[in-house]
Amino acid sequence: MVERTLAIIKPDAVEKHAIGDIIRMYEGAGLRPIAIRMMSLSKACAEGFYAVHRERPFFNDLTTYMSSGPVVVLVLEGADAVKVNRDLMGATDPKKAEAGTIRALHGASIEANAVHGSDSVENAKIEISYFFAESELG
Ligand code: ADP
Ligand code: MG
Repeated sequence: MVERTLAIIKPDAVEKHAIGDIIRMYEGAGLRPIAIRMMSLSKACAEGFYAVHRERPFFNDLTTYMSSGPVVVLVLEGADAVKVNRDLMGATDPKKAEAGTIRALHGASIEANAVHGSDSVENAKIEISYFFAESELG
C-alpha cells in the first residue's frame, strides 16, 4: 500500500550537517519526499506536536531540545512508508539501533536521536496536517 509518513530531521542532525545524508537514505529506501520545509519550532509548536508525550518525564527536555535549532520537516511517500521509515530509523536509543540505520549512524543520545518518524498511518495523517496543507504535498 502506498502510504505517507511524517519525518523530522532533528536539531542535532541539522547541526552536524547530516541533512543530505539522511535524505539520501530516505530516497535509497524508496521513500520519496513530497514536501520539505526547513523551520525552527517554537516551544509551543514542539509541545503541540509531542502532546501525546505530555505526561512523560522527558517531555519538557524533549520540547526544549526540539525548539533549540532548525529542523527539516518532510512528508515521505512510498510502499509501506510508515514501517519502511521506522525500520530505516532504528530504535529510539541510538545505542540500541541496528547498524546502518539513521539513528545508529547519526543519533547522539536517546533524546537527540537524529530523526522523528510517524508510528502509524493514522498518526502520520495527524502529524502531516500539523505542518502541511494538502495543497503543499507534491
Ligand atoms: P520514537 O521517536 O522512536 O517514536 P518515542 O515516541 O517513544 O520514540 O519518543 C519520542 C521522542 O522522545 C524520542 O524520539 C526521543 O527524542 C525522546 N525520548 C524518548 N524516550 C526518551 C527518554 N527516555 N529520555 C529522553 N528522551 C526520550
Ligand atoms: Mg514516537
